[in-house]
Amino acid sequence: MKKISILGSTGSIGTQTLDVVREHGDMQVVALSCGRNLSLIEKQAREFKPQFVSVSDENDAKKLRTSLADTDIEVGYGMDGLIRCATIEHCDIVVTAIVGMLGIRPTIAAIKAKKTIALANKETLVTAGHIIIPLAKEYGVSILPVDSEHSAIFQSLQGNSMNQIKKILLTASGGPFRGRKLSELEGIRVEDALKHPNWSMGQKITIDSSTMVNKGLEVIEAKWLFDVDLSQIQVVVHPQSVIHSAVEYADGAVIAQLGTPDMRIPIQYALYYPSRPALSGDRLDLFKLKDLTFEAPDLDTFKGLALAMKAARAGGNIPTAFNAANERAVALFLNKKIKYLEIIDIIEACMENASFIENPSVDEILDTEQCAYDYISKRW
Ligand code: NAD
Ligand code: MG
Repeated sequence: MKKISILGSTGSIGTQTLDVVREHGDMQVVALSCGRNLSLIEKQAREFKPQFVSVSDENDAKKLRTSLADTDIEVGYGMDGLIRCATIEHCDIVVTAIVGMLGIRPTIAAIKAKKTIALANKETLVTAGHIIIPLAKEYGVSILPVDSEHSAIFQSLQGNSMNQIKKILLTASGGPFRGRKLSELEGIRVEDALKHPNWSMGQKITIDSSTMVNKGLEVIEAKWLFDVDLSQIQVVVHPQSVIHSAVEYADGAVIAQLGTPDMRIPIQYALYYPSRPALSGDRLDLFKLKDLTFEAPDLDTFKGLALAMKAARAGGNIPTAFNAANERAVALFLNKKIKYLEIIDIIEACMENASFIENPSVDEILDTEQCAYDYISKRW
């Protein structure tokens, strides 16, 4: 029986991972972790009976230990808890479904413990891809994408030769504000930005999709996962989100993966790769699809995508400055402390303010993150 551990089990990806596990009943959950959703993690722990659960806060861990006192489940907290979750003995596959750069250390620890990684936490690859990818090679560990576009690319690569890839066509829905001009984004409220047209996801990634920062992060994620040059990645706005991404080969053939917007499909593909067990859910009905349309991204309006490309070209710790600034700016926007377009101002300012480090260590990545946070708290 395959054994799995989930970092971020109470979130959008985490709960859908457990839906897949529940549907098949042939995997054992050995560890779960979350931030502060104590009631849900307790429920999950009672249902899936892991050996270990972890939460972010020490006091919450005490409370959870009391409420799980009738079980033999161990409870941990903080970064140590996440690392224990990522490295726990007997576990085969670690699902990284936490948000942000918090995922860097646990992912590195999981690789060193030779766990297969089902990677949803794109921020880790964006900021530390130059460390994570070589480390996974060194330890002979597979990193299987959970992000729907990257799963689509991965599926489109099966049976083909990587060195015959001409380009990757990374699709984007364009988010709720597609078609608007910059001036029309002035007064966007949190509620407006949280309305994604096709996918239901966690709050941070939903805001990132509205600014197209998410697509920028995904370009960098794809560069690391598939070892291609940035010039080989083309973002294609495809509002219907039916084609989840595609690969064009040297002979002109384009191979794509299509489906309903159901994250359980890429999650299951990563968990069961290369098998495709039956999964419940709606099926794509080609006769019901009226139009499949495609357009180039508007980089003047969605500057977040343009800035991500700039960060990707600069390399080093600049993607970290980009990502850290975005993480903090999105949190400020969600707390109604800044205006929508200030997210982009903050990212741009932090990228300019960062001192370049070509090949940053984990500590230097985390220092760059802290510098961005300090800079933001001084100016905003
Ligand atoms: P989410 O906000 O729904 O869930 C985040 C999870 O992390 C929760 O379980 C939360 O409790 C946990 N968490 C928060 N702070 C923590 C802390 N300090 N310590 C431990 N755990 C903590 O997020 P999500 O939408 O599921 O996204 C997770 C990751 O997957 C992100 O990197 C996102 O970009 C990526 N992703 C998500 C989707 C999607 O459909 N939701 C699709 C593609 C990629
Ligand atoms: Mg995606």
